[in-house]
Amino acid sequence: MTPALFCCAQQCTFCWRAQSGDLQLTWDELRLPTWDSPEDIVEECIKTELAILTGYKANPKTDSQKLEEALTPKQAAISLTGEPTLYDQIGELIHTFHRNRFTTFLVSNGTVPSTLAKRSEEPTQLYISACAPNRKTYDRICRPQIPKAWERLSETLALLPSYKCPTVIRITLVNGLNMDDIK
Ligand code: SF4
Repeated sequence: MTPALFCCAQQCTFCWRAQSGDLQLTWDELRLPTWDSPEDIVEECIKTELAILTGYKANPKTDSQKLEEALTPKQAAISLTGEPTLYDQIGELIHTFHRNRFTTFLVSNGTVPSTLAKRSEEPTQLYISACAPNRKTYDRICRPQIPKAWERLSETLALLPSYKCPTVIRITLVNGLNMDDIK
């Protein structure tokens, strides 16, 4: 799931989300006019998950035990599209998932270190996307929409040891784009 469907501080060339400028539509990708509350987001995520799974009940090939497990979701991957740390209440959202007995993965591109630094609650695991080995490649393929994005990413990476939860640096590798400086 994502709390920031249309918002991101980057416009990666390999991104699958709708970006401002697509289909002749533009919007401010750093700010949406309204944000849902953490409680509403969690409630709607669970409802939507159950709605998506409904059809499996009538399918004779369905593994009933697996369906039963899927109907009780316990893991929230806060990722999907957009940059979740642009959602101001990300700490409260994580807390709300935990209160509902979920574990949480948070995947961020690291462009908002201030939010990651002041977290009110840590996720179960934190993933930071670092998809370029140097600033030049970063600017070319991640296409940051804010000043000093490379420095902000570096600031975020420096924060990782202060987290108690497991942390991961993840990389989207695209042949011909960012696979040329492996070391
Ligand atoms: S950081 Fe993620 S959501 Fe943002 S543009 Fe890149 S791939 Fe898309």
